[in-house]
Amino acid sequence: MKEVKTPKKPLIYYYMIVLLVLLLFNSLVMPWFAQRQVQLVDYGTFVTMTEDKQVGLVEVQDNQILFTDLDNKVVYKTGRMDDPELLDRLEDSGAKYSREIIEEMSPLASFLIYWILPIVIFVGIGQFMNRKMMNKAGGNSMMFGMGKSNAKVYVKSSEGIHFSDVAGEDEAKENLAEIVDYLHDPAKYKKIGASMPKGVLLVGPPGTGKTMLAKAVAGEADVPFFSMSGSEFVEMFVGMGASKVRDLFRQAKEKAPCIVFIDEIDAIGKKRDSQLGGNDEREQTLNQLLTEMDGFEGNSGVIILAATNRPESLDPALTRPGRFDRRVPVELPDLKGREEILKVHARKIQTVDSIDFSQIARMASGASGAELANIVNEAALRAVRDNRTQVTQSDLEESIEVVIAGYQKKNAILTDQEKWTVAYHEIGHALVAAKQSHSAPVQKITIIPRTSGALGYTMQVDEGNKYLMTKEEIENKIATYTGGRAAEELAFGTISTGASNDIEQATKLARAMITRYGMSPDFDMVAMENVSGQYLGGDSSLSCSAQTQTEIDRQVVALVKSQHKKASDILAQNREKLDELARYLYEKETITGIEFMDILNR
Ligand code: ADP
Ligand code: ZN
Repeated sequence: MKEVKTPKKPLIYYYMIVLLVLLLFNSLVMPWFAQRQVQLVDYGTFVTMTEDKQVGLVEVQDNQILFTDLDNKVVYKTGRMDDPELLDRLEDSGAKYSREIIEEMSPLASFLIYWILPIVIFVGIGQFMNRKMMNKAGGNSMMFGMGKSNAKVYVKSSEGIHFSDVAGEDEAKENLAEIVDYLHDPAKYKKIGASMPKGVLLVGPPGTGKTMLAKAVAGEADVPFFSMSGSEFVEMFVGMGASKVRDLFRQAKEKAPCIVFIDEIDAIGKKRDSQLGGNDEREQTLNQLLTEMDGFEGNSGVIILAATNRPESLDPALTRPGRFDRRVPVELPDLKGREEILKVHARKIQTVDSIDFSQIARMASGASGAELANIVNEAALRAVRDNRTQVTQSDLEESIEVVIAGYQKKNAILTDQEKWTVAYHEIGHALVAAKQSHSAPVQKITIIPRTSGALGYTMQVDEGNKYLMTKEEIENKIATYTGGRAAEELAFGTISTGASNDIEQATKLARAMITRYGMSPDFDMVAMENVSGQYLGGDSSLSCSAQTQTEIDRQVVALVKSQHKKASDILAQNREKLDELARYLYEKETITGIEFMDILNR
């Protein structure tokens, strides 16, 4: 699809330019104009000219004398001297006295020339350029974008995105296929009296392909695609957003059937609150959107798709039946979905034949579609850097680490002691994970420093998808997080700052167990925390009394402590393996899960 973008600048920008032009015009151009007509000469010239009878008109003012030549073409000006013979001289020269050699402009005329003329010229130039751009952009541009929507028009073209380009997300595609079918053959639906939902809300974390899906619907149905981001509606001036909405829908109705896509709809669709000093502009825009959605019939052929990763913050008026009444979840891809997304993107690059995509997909657990696309691209870049023409399995594996942990830090120099510490720390994690039957086995351990600041890490692999975690599994996970620190204690009798991230993760899990999953002995199934923004990392806020908070803190500490103890015990029981593995890792710097298990089970 070819996107035609229109220039978009805030209105204030134009006001500033107009003002600037005015000032420049008045301070530079006008004085120059005025100066040109009057020539400044010295008194001697004046005297000579009168003696030679070369003066036409003369006007004697308080401190200057204006005079013209015989043809009245050039105006001269000279300062007035204390000259007693001035009058005689002028009498002799035959010059005529005049009162207004240079006509004073009337105030109106000067106002017109100094202030209105520049604006007229400026607007004229603007219009001219505008027309030129309109010709180029196919009539979709406005220099002064006042109240005009900047909805981009996607010109229909054969290279459009289709459902086959969006991998995984089968449920979402199934859901949207109905809309495609409707756009193909609305009559079928009209006959039976069914009307399509006017609005469909695509809900999910960032980078899961919501925009892509919307484009794919337009591509499959072969209809125009209007797209606009919610934040683009909210302008500096009250009322602009509303008029943009109006304009967008006017355009859309002309082009129906078509798709209108509003990205980040939460930017305008946030719950209106009763607080004073709310965002007037946003509310007006939202009201206009609601009005427009009510204004057209379900069968008019305009389908609005909107994307958000904060569905809970949307105004209920927006999600009620008749508006965005259909909600399509676009979740993070599962193992199979990740594999398919990798394959879709790998089609665009040159790879060797033997790539095991399911292995890569397994390593990239939790990655979104956008991250997977990024991983494939990173791999291609890596191949180019090494002067190869094809991407290999190890390129992909390395690029996962790049996307997760950053680039290898080539010249980070660890002291010998630091390197030993990191080796023991990482083996500690891996060993605790491996010894607890429920924990996923490790995929890879490395102690090469990364640009993200990690000095090493353990990549765990989950075989397949997990939707539920048992209490024991979470506890084991906490124990695994503490394993790094436990190994340091055991090996060196001292501790380092290397465990700060582990501490954070372990605390998060422990706290969630107690406040959200009802896994503490005392609180039963009472929620102590509210989670908001589940697609954006899940911020949470405590909702309990101060005493309970104290108790929660106490239980979190107790829980982490007991798991830390468990990890220490596991490592102590396997002390020889810990030393052996740590030495191996210290020497090799990177070991795979298979090597690790070999040594462990030897
Ligand atoms: P969102 O709108 O959900 O934030 P986008 O649709 O903009 O995400 O996706 C960003 C990029 O990620 C896409 O351009 C595409 O390259 C890649 N991507 C995301 N999801 C998928 C998917 N399911 N299949 C293929 N590519 C995907
Ligand atoms: Zn660690």
